[in-house]
Amino acid sequence: MDTKVVMLDEGSLDRASIKEAGEIIRNGGLVAFPTETVYGLGANALDNESVKKIFEAKGRPQDNPLIVHIADFEDIKPLVEEVSEIALKFMNRFWPGPMTMILPKSSIIPDAASASLPSVGIRMPSNVIARELIRAAKVPIAAPSANISGRPSPTDVQRCIEDLSGRVDYILGGEICDIGLESTIIDCTVQPTCVLRPGGITLEMLREIDPNAYIDPAIMEKPNEDLKPKAPGMKYRHYAPKATVKIVQGDLQKTIAKINEMVQNYIDRNEVVGIMATEETKDSYPKGLVLSLGSRKNMISVSQGLFETLRSFDDKKVDVIISEAFEEKGVGVAVMNRLKKSAGFDIIKV
Ligand code: AMP
Ligand code: MG
Repeated sequence: MDTKVVMLDEGSLDRASIKEAGEIIRNGGLVAFPTETVYGLGANALDNESVKKIFEAKGRPQDNPLIVHIADFEDIKPLVEEVSEIALKFMNRFWPGPMTMILPKSSIIPDAASASLPSVGIRMPSNVIARELIRAAKVPIAAPSANISGRPSPTDVQRCIEDLSGRVDYILGGEICDIGLESTIIDCTVQPTCVLRPGGITLEMLREIDPNAYIDPAIMEKPNEDLKPKAPGMKYRHYAPKATVKIVQGDLQKTIAKINEMVQNYIDRNEVVGIMATEETKDSYPKGLVLSLGSRKNMISVSQGLFETLRSFDDKKVDVIISEAFEEKGVGVAVMNRLKKSAGFDIIKV
C-alpha cells in the first residue's frame, strides 16, 4: 500500500488535505494524525470492517478496545446510552483535552471498536488537526496510538512514518505532541470514578469534580492473579523499546550513585548502556550514553520526552536503559505508569 504523507502547519491548516484525509476515513481507509497526547491511527468508528483494519496495521490484540474520538459535544449523543451527571461535569471541565471517558455504549458502536464490551471509551481531542479531521470525516474516529503494538507511542510524525509507512493510507504530520503520553482514562460506569489509565489530566484535577476518584491499584504495580488491571489494554506488555529497561528509585543522590555503579558493571560486560536522566542530573554520569528527559521542575517536559527518548536509545542500539524514577504525583503518576510498564516492573530501590 502507498502511504501519502502530508505535513500540516497547525497555525494555518491546509483544508484540502484534511478534506482528502477525512474522505479516506469515511470511505473505510486508515489515517494517522497528531493529537495533544500521542499520534493516533484512525478509522471510521461506526464501521466494523474499517475498525478491524486498525488492528491488522498495528498488530493489536483484538480484545483491546479502541477510543472513539469526537470533535463537538453534540457528537456524543448517538454513541452512548446515557451521560450521567458526573460524566457531564467531567466533559464540561476537561474536554476538549487529554481525557477519555468510559460510558455505556449505544448499539451503533461496532464490536471491533469496543471489543464487544457493553461500554465505549470516548474522547474529544483539543489538537486542531485532529478535530478538523473528525469534522471532515463526518463520522467519529476510532484511534489507538499510531505505532506497531507494544512499542512506545509516537509523539513525532517521523516515528509514525517509521512504524506505519506502507500499512496505512495517509499520514497527517503536525507538531510534536504536547503531553506525549496517552489520555487519562476514567470509568464513568462506576461510582466513585475509577482512573483506568493515568495521563495529562491528573487525579488531583479529577478530584475537583469527584473527590472520591481513585486510580485502579492494579496499574501501578506488577499485575498478578489478585491484581488485574480493569482496562483490558493495560495487561499487555507496552511502551517497550528493544533494549531492556531498569528503573532506580529512591533518594536522588543514592540513585545517581547506584546508576553509576550499574553502568560500570554493564561496561565491564561489554554492554552498551543508556541512562535516562534529567536536566538536574545529566552531568552526574561520567560514563554511558546519557539522554535527558527534561527538567524535574516541569513534569510535562518529562512526559513529552519519555517515548521519544526510549526510541532514541533504540536508534543508538543500546542493550540496556537505566532510568531515574519520578515522584508519583501530578503527571508523575502517568510518567511512572508508562516507565514501569516499559521496564516490566524491574525496579531497583535505593
Ligand atoms: P490506546 O488506544 O492504545 O490508547 O488504548 C486504549 C485504552 O483504552 C486501552 O487500555 C483499553 O483497554 C482502554 N479502553 C477502551 N475502551 C474501554 C472500555 N470500554 N472499558 C475499559 N477500558 C477501555
Ligand atoms: Mg497504544
